Amino acid sequence: MYSGMTKDSLEWQKKIRKFVDTELIPWEIYAEKNEGNIPSEIEKKHQQLAIKFGLPGMGISKKEGGLGLSMFEQMIIWEQLGRVTNALCWCFSEAQDWMEEVFSDYQKKEYLKPLMNGTKKECYAITEKGSGSDVNGSIQATAELVGDQYVINGEKWYVTSANKADFFFLQARLKSGKNKNNHALFIVDINEKGIELVDSPAFSHTFAHHHSIYKFNNVKIPISHIIGKEDDGMSYTHAWFRHERLGIAARCCGAAERLISEVTQFTKIRESGGSKIKDYQLIQSMLADSVTELAATRLLLYEICKEHDNNQDVKILHAKCSMIKLYASEMANRVADRSVQIFGGRGYMRENVAERFFRELRADRIWEGTSEIQRIIIANSLYKRGLENLI
Ligand SMILES: Cc1cc2nc3c(=O)[nH]c(=O)nc-3n(C[C@H](O)[C@H](O)[C@H](O)COP(=O)(O)OP(=O)(O)OC[C@H]3O[C@@H](n4cnc5c(N)ncnc54)[C@H](O)[C@@H]3O)c2cc1C
Repeated sequence: MYSGMTKDSLEWQKKIRKFVDTELIPWEIYAEKNEGNIPSEIEKKHQQLAIKFGLPGMGISKKEGGLGLSMFEQMIIWEQLGRVTNALCWCFSEAQDWMEEVFSDYQKKEYLKPLMNGTKKECYAITEKGSGSDVNGSIQATAELVGDQYVINGEKWYVTSANKADFFFLQARLKSGKNKNNHALFIVDINEKGIELVDSPAFSHTFAHHHSIYKFNNVKIPISHIIGKEDDGMSYTHAWFRHERLGIAARCCGAAERLISEVTQFTKIRESGGSKIKDYQLIQSMLADSVTELAATRLLLYEICKEHDNNQDVKILHAKCSMIKLYASEMANRVADRSVQIFGGRGYMRENVAERFFRELRADRIWEGTSEIQRIIIANSLYKRGLENLI
């Protein structure tokens, strides 16, 4: 066990593990067979349990009605939530600490609190057809201040969960004013006039949450919907990236743990050539590599979370979030691949956890910045801040 575990983090680990095992995992195969959907009363039950635990505001201060958990404790929770497939752990909205720092009082009342009590859900519209990895350089969506409204135009791709959301966080380039061309982040209600659903493509995984394409045609939003300062949009997106990259890493650790656990059990019962396959060293080798890589990844994740909680310099932290997102997502994909291999033909069946994770974990090497982009961030940081600050 990790030496830095506290009594509180152990309690969270136990509580959320039980929630995942008893409430979420039993619905995986149903979801897989029903385009990711589960009965609405069960979906509601999952959401209510998550709200009862306080998960939507886990990183928000107690003053604002959250749990005020450290990043370490939050990631202990996300690690357990990562053990379930089909995105069934996305049963609640997450109000993140950076929102508390930059939201106005109006935005806290109308958006932060509703995220925490489950009356509103968010989605993120950053990526565009011509702007994926190069967020900063090539976003074409624009926001023009006309009177007391911003007018938004553009097209956004892969907007995860928009089919279940009440509002977008939308990043656009300013078309006017002294901050012209800088990026700003806005809150855009989903039912504003001029928002058009262009397409809802199918993806490899089976999730009820879609990743759709939306067009914003002269969408007028009140000036009160800009987040923070006009020219700080990119820094808020970076804060979101850091949080999500840690979350992805934590969920990848949870997924790898479940895979190793289930596949190890399988090797104890499956026989081939007169022996249990656990006795074959080629099988043991795959398990040994998986356990070792998971153990190393978890240690790095926990240490980076502790550095976050000890107010690590944000630029160094940014590179470290990239390091762990890169390492954990690549590790989990290797573990999923080996697990499919050990399960044999069963590992290629959709009712098998390894098959589902094999498809689902692939996205973790792409979204929130591809593995190549994480490597670029890490290498740039190595040159700018020095090796001694990264290790
Ligand atoms: C399922 C899914 C859900 C998503 N959800 C959201 C969402 O909710 N909101 C949102 O805004 N976005 C979302 N995205 C978008 C995601 O963040 C982008 O797909 C990702 O950042 C990569 O951008 P791209 O697809 O345009 O690839 P590109 O940027 O076109 O990259 C193509 C390839 O080139 C490589 N590459 C690019 N630049 C460089 C470079 N400088 N050096 C080396 N290699 C490079 C990439 O690593 C990749 O291999 C989602 C994507 C997926 C697949």
